[in-house]
Order: sequence, then structure tokens, then C-alpha cells
Amino acid sequence: MAHFTVIGLGRFGIAASLELLHLGHSVVGVDRDPKIVGKYVEQLTQAVICDSTDESALRELDLGSSDAVLVAIGEDMQSSLLCILALKNLGVKQIWVKASTKEHHTIVSKLGVQRIIHPEEEMGVRVAQALNYPMVNNYFSIGHGLYVVEIHVNASLSDSSIHQTLGAAHRQVKAVLVKRKDSVIVDIEDDFRIKQDDILLLTGTREQLQYLAPRLV
Ligand code: ATP
Repeated sequence: MAHFTVIGLGRFGIAASLELLHLGHSVVGVDRDPKIVGKYVEQLTQAVICDSTDESALRELDLGSSDAVLVAIGEDMQSSLLCILALKNLGVKQIWVKASTKEHHTIVSKLGVQRIIHPEEEMGVRVAQALNYPMVNNYFSIGHGLYVVEIHVNASLSDSSIHQTLGAAHRQVKAVLVKRKDSVIVDIEDDFRIKQDDILLLTGTREQLQYLAPRLV
């Protein structure tokens, strides 16, 4: 279990917080609006009223114990930037920031933030990918240009071996695991046969996975 702090409990911040809780982590939610904090005090591990532009107030929050701090203040760019500066001054290492505009992104990246999120754009790209590759349930980046994709196995692929399924890409793209009903199968060899309705997790570069996509329809 990890521990996170989410600053700004708007739609994005609260959705991220509740999902982290659902995944078994603890989450301290911070917002300057007492009404918003009151609304979520029962659901979050802890909910705190605090103006995150105030470094001395942030110091009281023991942010050093957080594995990461997510700054989910979108519209008020000044608040977001002052909050990031305060977090940096307090020595917080893992800072993730929601950026609302290109200008916001530029300044945040100059401040040396590890991960800048553009929810609308990222969701737009995901929706387009899902429309383009309907068999892809989910995909995410694991860094170094590598992605993991979760594929729903259709009838046309049922009983194919991994080697047949991946074809020429079988050396570059790796099958990580197969979810079959309630079980999870790891150590997938080339001769492993997938079945209809299996969920197959593959990893590779974006280009390799895109090259493979037409075979998986
Ligand atoms: P949404 O996620 O709903 O799209 P948004 O991008 O419109 O949000 P804002 O509404 O500007 O972003 O901010 C999200 C939350 O951050 C709000 O609940 C707001 O009260 C809180 N917030 C803004 N500034 C600060 C601050 N300085 N300190 C703490 N919380 C703040």
C-alpha cells in the first residue's frame, strides 16, 4: 500500500483519489474550499482544508510521507504554480501535475515536474485508440517507450498459439500474462494457446504493437 496526497479536489482530483483508495492506497485530500473538504471527509483517508500556495501550511501536512503528490488544480494556474514551488521547497520528490493549457505545461516542465497530465487530451487519444482498435481494452505506458496493452481475444484468434498470434512480431512483442475467467496465467511460452474471451496482456513499443494490431482484430 502506498500513500498519496492529492491537492485540489475538483472532478479530476476526486476521481483520482477515489480510484487510488479503491486500489488499496491511502489518500490525503487537500482543498482550500471547506465545503469540498466536508463533502469528502468520510471517503478519504484524511481530508484537509489548506491553501496550497501557503508553504508553511503545507509544511504541516507531513508531505514527506507521501509516495507522490498530485497537484490537481487546473484552472487557477497561479495557485498550481505556487503550490509546485512550495512542494519543491519542501523537498517533495514525486510531483504529478494536472496542466490545463500549453503555457501551464511549459512552466510546469521548467520547474522539473516528473509527470504532467492533460486529462482532456489524454482521454481524447484513448477514445480514438479505442475506436481504432476496439479489441484493445486498455493500454498504458511503462516508460522507456514501452507500452502494455490489454487485448480481448476474439473468436477468430481462439486456439491460436502465441507464436501464431504474434507472427513476425513474436521476438519484439512479449506476452506478459493471460487472464482466463478467474485465473491469471503467467510464464506464457510461444506454444501457449489462447482461447476466446481470454484477456491477453502484451508489451512492446508503440510501433511494434501498432504493426501487430491488424492481426488481432
Ligand atoms: P476539475 O478537476 O473539476 O476540472 P479544474 O481543472 O476546473 O477542476 P479548479 O476548479 O481550478 O480546477 O480546481 C480544482 C480544485 O482545486 C477546486 O476544488 C479548488 O477549490 C481547489 N483549489 C484551487 N486552488 C487551490 C489552492 N490554492 N489550494 C487548495 N485548493 C485549491
